[in-house]
Amino acid sequence: MLERPPFKTCPQCGREQGFGILWVSSESYDRRCKFCRAKATYYLPEVDKKVLYLDQFAISEIFKVKERKRRADAPHAEFWTEANGLLDRAMMRQQIICPASNIHRDETMVYRDGKALDLAHEMMGGDTSFEDTTTIEHRQIYRHLEAYLKGEEPPSFDFDVDEILHGHRNAWLPDLHITVETDWSAFVEHTRQARDKAAEDFAPLYDRWVRDKPAFEDVLANELGAMARGYVDAYFHFMAMVQAGEASGDVQTYINGALSPVVTLIHEINRKFAERGVPPESAFRETVKFLNWPKNQSLPHHWISAHLFAAIASRLARGQKRHPSRGMMNDIKAIALYGPYVDAMFLDNECASLLEEKAVARGVKLKAKIFCLKRSADFLAYLRGLTDSAPQEVIDAARELYGTA
Ligand SMILES: [Zn+2]
Repeated sequence: MLERPPFKTCPQCGREQGFGILWVSSESYDRRCKFCRAKATYYLPEVDKKVLYLDQFAISEIFKVKERKRRADAPHAEFWTEANGLLDRAMMRQQIICPASNIHRDETMVYRDGKALDLAHEMMGGDTSFEDTTTIEHRQIYRHLEAYLKGEEPPSFDFDVDEILHGHRNAWLPDLHITVETDWSAFVEHTRQARDKAAEDFAPLYDRWVRDKPAFEDVLANELGAMARGYVDAYFHFMAMVQAGEASGDVQTYINGALSPVVTLIHEINRKFAERGVPPESAFRETVKFLNWPKNQSLPHHWISAHLFAAIASRLARGQKRHPSRGMMNDIKAIALYGPYVDAMFLDNECASLLEEKAVARGVKLKAKIFCLKRSADFLAYLRGLTDSAPQEVIDAARELYGTA
């Protein structure tokens, strides 16, 4: 390692511009003199960072600002430039992080310049990232299962954000960023197809809502009651792949089926029942019975996404002509799985407005403050508030490390 800026006068040999940053860790940093090698360690003040989920759209807009790829006359140019500046400052002052998520990765892959976007986003999250959405979803289900097996009421969730993060939220951001480059290009085409396919899958459902004009409450009740059906249908779909792969010797198909998250989930629940003495041939029946447990309606991710689906249905029923955008499923996933844990989310207008529908707002209480382009001034004010509230000792330490704060 070499000493790097910002340089200060060395306390030992007294030479100006000699004492540089050598190493930054999560809670301390070292300075060393490039002339006399005098070295010292300094401890960094403790911080308590907010966690912001930025949707893919926001990330790519901010990325364009960073790369100076944004046309000055592009829509909202001023807002994104200001947001980028404030975010940088709030991050430098250790007040906020915007961790990367597997949802971003899914979408990043369909973005033309995925690699660069990935990098920009990793830099914004430091070394933290969100837990995989499937893992969060399954963990909630396992907690319900535990209660079910004991004959207890479902547990209450405390939604501690650190439960859904990898890495240390309150680690100081490094001044250098080193990243392992991953080439995702081989998957791009496949992902794009998968996403188009997913959008097509929902089209008949949307059309039905347009035609039948169901009431919000009816769709909600239906969605809430459909949990077991959803998992079981998906399970059979993937198990059919397993069997087809086995029969034809197509290893890829076999693996895609066998390793699909829903197969893992169902088998894990089966195992829990088998452990408790349920004969293996009856385990699956017990699993379905558990998935049909009415108390599962309150499972956080299930409860939230059911409300959002009901809101989409009622909009289509009220005459909205456009089908929800392709990215909508990912946005719903993000809200349902991260919304209860994070401090704030920046979403697209369509999604943010679903949360504002009265019937949704009545049932869904998220910890997250929700921002979108339509409320851009609120977002800037939020970031400004965070920057301004940074303690002086944190600002001073940031200036020591990064040369600015
Ligand atoms: Zn020196």
